[in-house]
Amino acid sequence: MKTVLSTLNAKYIHSSLALRLLYVASKEKHDISFKEFVIKERPETIAESLLETNPQIIGLGVYIWNVEQTRQLVEILRQKNEKLIIILGGPEVSYEPDFFLNNWAIDYVISGEGEFVLEELISALKEGKTTEIASVSSRTKISRTIAQADINKIAALPSPHQLAEDREDMQHKVIYFETSRGCPYQCQYCLSSLEKGVRYFPKEYIFGNLKYLIDNGAKLIKFLDRTFNINKKHTTDIFDFMIDHYRPNLSCQFEVYADILTDELIDYLNNKLPENYFRFEIGIQSTYEPTDVAVKRKQNFELLARNIKKIMDGGKIDLHLDLIAGLPYETFERFTKSFNDVFALGGKEVQLGFLKMLRGTGLRNMANHYGYEYEVEAPYEILFNNDIPTVELEQIRDAEEILEKYWNSGKFPLTMTAIFEKYYSKQYFEFFDEFGQFYKKNNFLKHKFQFEDLFRYIHRFLQTKDIDLFDELRTDYYNNFKIRPHGFWESTLEKKVRKQLLYQIGNDKPFLKKHLLDRKTIEKQTAIDPMDENTYLLTIFIEREGLSSPLRLKYRSEEH
Ligand code: SF4
Repeated sequence: MKTVLSTLNAKYIHSSLALRLLYVASKEKHDISFKEFVIKERPETIAESLLETNPQIIGLGVYIWNVEQTRQLVEILRQKNEKLIIILGGPEVSYEPDFFLNNWAIDYVISGEGEFVLEELISALKEGKTTEIASVSSRTKISRTIAQADINKIAALPSPHQLAEDREDMQHKVIYFETSRGCPYQCQYCLSSLEKGVRYFPKEYIFGNLKYLIDNGAKLIKFLDRTFNINKKHTTDIFDFMIDHYRPNLSCQFEVYADILTDELIDYLNNKLPENYFRFEIGIQSTYEPTDVAVKRKQNFELLARNIKKIMDGGKIDLHLDLIAGLPYETFERFTKSFNDVFALGGKEVQLGFLKMLRGTGLRNMANHYGYEYEVEAPYEILFNNDIPTVELEQIRDAEEILEKYWNSGKFPLTMTAIFEKYYSKQYFEFFDEFGQFYKKNNFLKHKFQFEDLFRYIHRFLQTKDIDLFDELRTDYYNNFKIRPHGFWESTLEKKVRKQLLYQIGNDKPFLKKHLLDRKTIEKQTAIDPMDENTYLLTIFIEREGLSSPLRLKYRSEEH
């Protein structure tokens, strides 16, 4: 039976490892292929493409980011072909198969790791045998078994990473890679807490595939392991391998539990790692102990903060710290403290998410206990609970937009440093919050804004607070460009004066010689800003070894 597997990825650069695993597990026995799409594509177009080869079975991977689009796709597929057998799989459907079977025009749901279950289901359908298979639900029988595939059997399949059809695209995609499955922790908002135990792929499988990816130009490998550093030996073996096989222009991301990092491992990484190679994503979520207890998240913030500081001091690993708003017992004030505790650690990015009540999780089952109200449709974000009302969650959302645009974007480093050193010392959230409310009050554009608008907005906000950081803002602005930009401020130099100055500098031979410049560069690639009487700041947009931003020079003119 001709089978097509598909999923809708969130972005073009993503690729689905699950789809490839399902494909390699069945391709020797069945007539099977796979096609990937992105959520912004029209469901009609996706349906047409999937039906092109007249499949009898279509299998779809459902995730929190594609639920609604997949529902629409299923409707269209069903309208176009009543006889089509539609199978769903993926974390979104695994724990509540009955909901999807009752509400969507589908035939089967596979719960859990579907590699071998799908293969068995296709065989049963092909041979007209019973489809009452563990982890397969149909309208007549719901299975509550969550499949766990034999990892050694997966490792023995043709590699999902070495498919000929992926080779060309490898450099343009994020490569998802797993060295283990499962998580030993029990965080009640997370689907991984429902899996039992941690299982490791064989080292030959891991190293063989990693070597292939490194040799074939992969740019970004994102390790999917839920807690990468849970097993010390496993972690160091893989870190050793990646360090031994370092290749410029490759970076790796790992999800790390910071409390259990050892001094020995941090020292090793700080000494051995090349720059810009590893990035750690560290979930902190909350620093309030009653919250951690309520969601069964084991965490020692003091230890975690100490380890993070040690990593920061090494200066080799980019840190991305995660926080969740809306957890039990976190009022607005308590959340502010969690945010400030986490922000103070100095991560390059602070990812602020909003609690989602995922199907199957312990917290969703306890929703009434904490007074949660949440969106009925995916992504099931909370609307309020006993501790935080909607209006305060909205306020945090406004602050989160500012955090993304002004901190996580990395485009305002000097301005942000000055703000937090001089004006909002240890009051990080207060800054993002106040600016967020100012944004809202002034109806500043949240989308489709020009780059310059971001600078104008923050300049205006700072002016209302009597904070003068124009120099820092201007330098940040210039540092974002490779060629001379227009500026975000009203020019204070008349055009004629500017022209005369550039002419004068372009003919100042000693000055040009001293700085290895020429007249053309001055005239075409130089921004000029007055500093004080007869002194000007020249920002010269040239590429020069050792220069990571435009060249900045002071110029004193006797004539102006
Ligand atoms: S949040 Fe992280 S540590 Fe907690 S259960 Fe999920 S994957 Fe494991």
